[in-house]
Amino acid sequence: MVAKDTLALIGNTPLVRLAGPSEAAGCDIFAKCEFANPGASVKDRAALFIVEDAEAKGLIQPGGTIVEGTAGNTGIGLALVANAKGYKTIIVMPETQSREKMDTLRALGAELVLVPAAAYSNPGHFVHTSRRIAEETPNAIWANQFDNIANRKAHIQGTAEEIWAQMDGRIDGFTCAAGTGGTLAGVGLGLKEKDERVTIALSDPHGAALYEYYANGELKAEGSSVAEGIGQGRITANLEGAPIDAQYRIADEEGLEWVRRLMAEEGLCLGLSSGINVAGAVRLGRDLGPGKRVVTLLCDTGFRYLSTLYNAAWLRAKGLPVFPWLDDA
Ligand code: PMP
Repeated sequence: MVAKDTLALIGNTPLVRLAGPSEAAGCDIFAKCEFANPGASVKDRAALFIVEDAEAKGLIQPGGTIVEGTAGNTGIGLALVANAKGYKTIIVMPETQSREKMDTLRALGAELVLVPAAAYSNPGHFVHTSRRIAEETPNAIWANQFDNIANRKAHIQGTAEEIWAQMDGRIDGFTCAAGTGGTLAGVGLGLKEKDERVTIALSDPHGAALYEYYANGELKAEGSSVAEGIGQGRITANLEGAPIDAQYRIADEEGLEWVRRLMAEEGLCLGLSSGINVAGAVRLGRDLGPGKRVVTLLCDTGFRYLSTLYNAAWLRAKGLPVFPWLDDA
């Protein structure tokens, strides 16, 4: 099959059975390969839906500018969608994110604005900075991925439908972590529409407030995580009404152990949010029991983290275990 253009390459990603996680869980664990999108992450889906929603509403004119605050992947998705459609992009990113994501944005021709990491309550936070730049730039829109529900629609209409079809309608559980929450809420809502018995679970990193919220009704964060793109402190518009049945709190070490094993044993080069998702899927699979079928997501490619997760000096500086094969490099 020949795709009619670059944008037609977004979505319809392959689903793979993961041998190690399935063995560890005692049931079948499957993962959606979102690194196979043209921008190498799940966020291409949201980027396309956000831009096409703005076009349908007449909010953006030819030659206009798309402005967004992002950990990087949404910016990469928006930049490639913008290039394919004739728009410009201004991307605001915390300077703590990986070098590879910054270089990729520059390569795509996005204007990159780096800001210091700050609390959401701080006006200098990357989200607020991007909104201000959008307001001050002529013929510009603010993508607003956290509270623009065109984001989760990409997963209700795309990701969830694809998972249902690829699993032949036989699926017992789904889990993933949340950044904007678009993936978790969108896939959750989409799968529940097909079969309300599918268990939807949050896999939350340390430093995020959602685990406590779904467990006890209180937004409360503890600890921290080096995972990029996930870890939310509030109920975004995309998370509102998300059908969450269970929640797991996953430490970086547990997620990183799956990143290491999936690389060494299955040849998959992944980022830490994918490792945390797989750790959550193993826990959900154990809770659901033998014979069950659990799906999660591999959010982006590990090639985006060669200077961090796959760098011995960086891992050591963070106090994280170093993959044994990296020591000799
Ligand atoms: N993993 C990575 C690497 C990401 O960049 C993102 C997006 N911020 C996510 C997971 C979470 O996706 P969502 O925004 O749909 O919650």
